[in-house]
Amino acid sequence: MQKQNRYHEDMNKDILCKECNMRLEHLESKGLITTNQRLVMRNPDRVVSGHLLITRDSGDLASLSAFRIQDSLARGPGKGGIRFHPEVTAQEVSSLAFVMSLKTALLDIPYGGAKGGVQFNPRDYSEEEIEKVARAYVRRFSDVLGPHKDIPAPDVNTTPQIMNWMRDEYEHITGAPAPGFITGKSVEQGGSEGRVEATGMGAFMILQEKFKDTEKSEMSVAIQGFGNAGSVLASLLHKEGYTVVAVSDSKGGIFNKDGLDIERIVKYKEDGNRISDFEDVEKITNEELLELDVDILAPAALGDVITEENVKNIKAGSIIEVANGPISPRADEELYKKGVEVIPDLLANAGGVTVSYFEWYQNIHEEQWTEKDVFEKLEKKMSAAYKETKSLAQEKNISLRDAAYKIAIDRITEKS
Ligand code: NAD
Repeated sequence: MQKQNRYHEDMNKDILCKECNMRLEHLESKGLITTNQRLVMRNPDRVVSGHLLITRDSGDLASLSAFRIQDSLARGPGKGGIRFHPEVTAQEVSSLAFVMSLKTALLDIPYGGAKGGVQFNPRDYSEEEIEKVARAYVRRFSDVLGPHKDIPAPDVNTTPQIMNWMRDEYEHITGAPAPGFITGKSVEQGGSEGRVEATGMGAFMILQEKFKDTEKSEMSVAIQGFGNAGSVLASLLHKEGYTVVAVSDSKGGIFNKDGLDIERIVKYKEDGNRISDFEDVEKITNEELLELDVDILAPAALGDVITEENVKNIKAGSIIEVANGPISPRADEELYKKGVEVIPDLLANAGGVTVSYFEWYQNIHEEQWTEKDVFEKLEKKMSAAYKETKSLAQEKNISLRDAAYKIAIDRITEKS
């Protein structure tokens, strides 16, 4: 087994992503992966960094640090978003790229994993300046990007409009149409139907599979975060008859033991209101929401919200990790011991990358699927990945997280 394109001896995950290494060591210590597999997974395939020079509206020059890290190209082109954030680092980008490799492998999508970032605060930049950053990023990394090399997508602070500019810049460089260069484009510019709902929909599909034999109205749900992923999940569960008892945004949450009227709350939020101002319901904090005695808890906002500090107070029967990394490794062990089933982020929020793959596929084959087609294909992918993970976890008596990692790593290393 040989890793391709190793960029620099020092650029391994000891430096770039400590928690990725810890996770790999954990799997090896449990005999779930071999030492060779750990070593193959340890280094990113390629780390590219540089500076983007932008002339600001004022005429001053800005020099912004930028990265593209291709964690694994073993199973296909790299795939992963580009983050615009003042605190983004190579370390963070590397750990996100590692997760992308695992997610695409677990869902059996013919991609590797990658991620990018530009270190600046877009809130301090005009739209024209942001367009310059987007175009400069593509010029800087165009030799390692491409529809069959590495396909970027949106991430924190990067929008469909930014994807459209990036595609346009790439087409200027190559002199040919390349809609498959990037995903997350607006639908008019070659984006896919269903992409906006994909992450919440994917999580919903897993819950539907898991609780297929349970009366839905008996299932209580609490959801932290009411953004793209959380609000779609809440609406779908509510429509299906689950009792969504609590939801929240960054300012706080609301609770009703008999169930909330999610349709009204979505409308209330769309009208520019805060969830915590919604009337005739009990107000709760985000911390209290996590500790509710519910059948399903869905952290859908931030990482590291369930930690050693609060894990002893968690009463949920199952947790679905819609956000990336909401449970710390120590808390995860505690929950497993307590018998709380955790559906890991690798699986729970993979609906997004799966529909991104569908977008690329439609672009490459010049097809345009309906939303119905997209969701039918998504359902097949999500339910197959969930069943496979569940079956391995049962067979080996391990957590769903360990099973998901093992399936993904076996698939990556066998192609490396
Ligand atoms: P979003 O920005 O649309 O929504 C985030 C929500 O979290 C908002 O309602 C916000 O008010 C809330 N929030 C912020 N800080 C909070 C806090 N301290 N406590 C409680 N709530 C808080 O983001 P999103 O796209 O819905 O993503 C949510 C999570 O899902 C992130 O962890 C993201 O990485 C993950 N995710 C999203 C996608 C996707 O396609 N949208 C794909 C994979 C993973």
